[in-house]
Amino acid sequence: MPGPDGTMQVAPAVPAALYVHFPFCARRCHYCDFAVSRSERPPVEEWLAVVEVELGWWFAAGGWEPGSSLDTVYVGGGTPSLLGADGMRGLRDVLAGKLDLSSVREWNAEANPVSFSAALAEAWAESGVNRVSLGVQSFDDRVLSWLGRSHTAARAAEAVREARRGGIRRFNLDIMFGLPDTVGRDLPAELERVAALQPPHLSLYGLSVEPGTLLARRIARGVQPGPDPEKYADEFVRIAEYLTTAGYEHYEVSNFCLPGEESLHNQSYWNRSACLGLGPSSHGFHPPSRCWNLRNWPAWRDSVMGGHGPLEGHEVVGAEDSRLEKVWLGLRTRNGVDSGILEASHQETLSRFESAGWIRRSEGRVRPTARGWLRLDSIVAELNSAGSPPAAPSGSRET
Ligand code: SF4
Repeated sequence: MPGPDGTMQVAPAVPAALYVHFPFCARRCHYCDFAVSRSERPPVEEWLAVVEVELGWWFAAGGWEPGSSLDTVYVGGGTPSLLGADGMRGLRDVLAGKLDLSSVREWNAEANPVSFSAALAEAWAESGVNRVSLGVQSFDDRVLSWLGRSHTAARAAEAVREARRGGIRRFNLDIMFGLPDTVGRDLPAELERVAALQPPHLSLYGLSVEPGTLLARRIARGVQPGPDPEKYADEFVRIAEYLTTAGYEHYEVSNFCLPGEESLHNQSYWNRSACLGLGPSSHGFHPPSRCWNLRNWPAWRDSVMGGHGPLEGHEVVGAEDSRLEKVWLGLRTRNGVDSGILEASHQETLSRFESAGWIRRSEGRVRPTARGWLRLDSIVAELNSAGSPPAAPSGSRET
């Protein structure tokens, strides 16, 4: 069904996966280029009011019936733990005004260890949150200081214990790798600290230097060295080997879990299921259209409250791009892709990838290895006669 601007294709029913972006952080980390506004006391009530109006805009655009069921909710940021207990309760009330939340299997919220506590975990659990993603990044204070994080390693470990004390058993830890040698990180010691905490889920992020960040400026001035690509690859493989030996399943290029602890919400991205995005910079997928909201908080707020809707842009994903997305997203996961969607002319290329140890072929599927995941973009580019991989869908940093 066409949206109010006459071109955007809105899903005919409410998508089962919902992403909500909370765009505030108390301070900006040195490497971060996300759409965040700095605020120690964010305007939670105002943000909630805009989310409510945006949700109403989508219902009008899609002609959706109130009371539709959701399967997963992901509150990302930014720093959603700055919502506090009242803010998350307020978000639940806004969503419950239009949606049936009784069927939600996974409600994940991101948290910074500094603004997290057992009391917050308990209050969030009462609001429906059943999974927390803690932005830990490292358990080494030298690394945390270098990254410009606002917490210590001890505080991060305590936040893990607080999540459990507050009744949230399912949680993820974000861990960063690929830092320059000069930071002096003791990776084996850190991995032992991680394993001792027994997190059900881990997401690995390689350090990338984004233009405009403090880190990029320091590297450009020669104050700090940049990441080393060889070390990046070496650390990725070492961490993957350590975690799989410790009982974790490497089920997606960046994600590891104990058996049965996969992120349900992120499966919707990898499976190319419909997803509704709310909040500044959030992305949505209304097959065959992908859309993205205005990036900055004031621009999104003013547009939504002015009756102009949340969108900055959208695109229709054509048949060939859909096929390439399926290949690229499928190869991100351990399930790989059905060989049937690859062209017969790719067999020679696949044999070469298999000989190099980058993929495995069995039972009609092509599955990547950990070393193959390191080259995912170039593998897909070779399988794409156009020569470049499709753009990543987004909405959650666990993707
Ligand atoms: S906490 Fe996350 S979103 Fe906020 S500034 Fe740091 S990296 Fe960016």
